[in-house]
Amino acid sequence: MKNIQMVDLITQYEKIKPAIDEAILSVIQNAQFINGPEVQNFQKELEEYLEVKHVIPCANGTDALQIALMSLGLVPGDEVITPSFTYIATTEVIALLGLKPIFVDVDPATFCIDATKIEAAITNKTKAIVPVHLYGQAANMNAILAIAKKHNLAVVEDNAQALGSIYHLENGKVEKTGTLGNIGCTSFFPSKNLGCYGDGGALYTNDDALAEKIRMIANHGQKVKYYHEVVGCNSRLDSIQAAVLRIKLRQLDNYIDARRNVATYYDTVFGAIPGMKIPFRSEDSKHVFHQYTLQLEGIDRDALSAHLASKEIPSMIYYPVPAHRQKMFSFFGSAATELPVTDYLTSCVLSLPIHTEMQEEQLAYITSTIVEYINSTK
Ligand SMILES: *Cc1c(COP(=O)(O)O)cnc(C)c1O
Repeated sequence: MKNIQMVDLITQYEKIKPAIDEAILSVIQNAQFINGPEVQNFQKELEEYLEVKHVIPCANGTDALQIALMSLGLVPGDEVITPSFTYIATTEVIALLGLKPIFVDVDPATFCIDATKIEAAITNKTKAIVPVHLYGQAANMNAILAIAKKHNLAVVEDNAQALGSIYHLENGKVEKTGTLGNIGCTSFFPSKNLGCYGDGGALYTNDDALAEKIRMIANHGQKVKYYHEVVGCNSRLDSIQAAVLRIKLRQLDNYIDARRNVATYYDTVFGAIPGMKIPFRSEDSKHVFHQYTLQLEGIDRDALSAHLASKEIPSMIYYPVPAHRQKMFSFFGSAATELPVTDYLTSCVLSLPIHTEMQEEQLAYITSTIVEYINSTK
């Protein structure tokens, strides 16, 4: 049996090696490293995949979030509603721009922002909501979009973990996550569902004016070279990464199926274990399982994780400290915000290996190791 890893990018690469090697070599041979045809082609192909009008590639997912917020014309002190139970990038960019993150608790079923708690957090300074489709599970976008409309707020979706997920809107339409709000943001970090071989990211929107602004901000605030209209940044997807992503995009739906199959295997076993809460599957959306995350109730997480490690099975806690308790936000006094579900989940979640290359033998080993451990502690 192969070593078990949280992600196995080497086996994945071996299956697409000829195409990847050729694509990378061709970028080098053409020396079109920056904004070459690969970037433009990838942009078009991702637009088609997402069925969205505009994709704007950029350097990484954190930049995508930052540029999205920059494009909304917010001023320092404006408030942005976001979950605390997320990767730090989501909330960090809010503070970086002089905006104030307003943390709202999450729904214990979906791990995503609890839409029923958003309205209570809205003030006259609130300008935007940044929901995160955590672990590949879509947030309750029907409710979030209704609240945003009612209060005239922008919606920036952090889709870094959910690229490829689809969502059933109240109006009957079925659309890709990230294209539901005003702007969607994605990361192509290697371990993401669509990962490149370095850093990469993208924004997407159906709004022509926003797309133009985003493109300008990501390119030093210029539309015409050397004429800088607004303060921007330099955030580009490089051509080698775009070439890799073009090949992997063709596999994305297969990759998602592979992840979902792993999740189903786990569900069947862990769903029968008292004290293990398996991931919720919403009827409104397709879970793309960036992570497979259990909630442990009455099971000692550290002991289980240590036991798994002793059997060479990795496991991870995403995330051990929620954003509102991070030292970087002590300035806002955000640790005083009451987020009981966030704090609870932080204490009990455990993510297991899930990736596109998992073998049945590995799954059988992981599940039987866990079942035996649970039985031995009874
Ligand atoms: C990975 C990730 C990001 C940041 O992406 P980078 O490409 O690493 O900058 C942002 N938000 C979430 C939820 C992520 O998982």
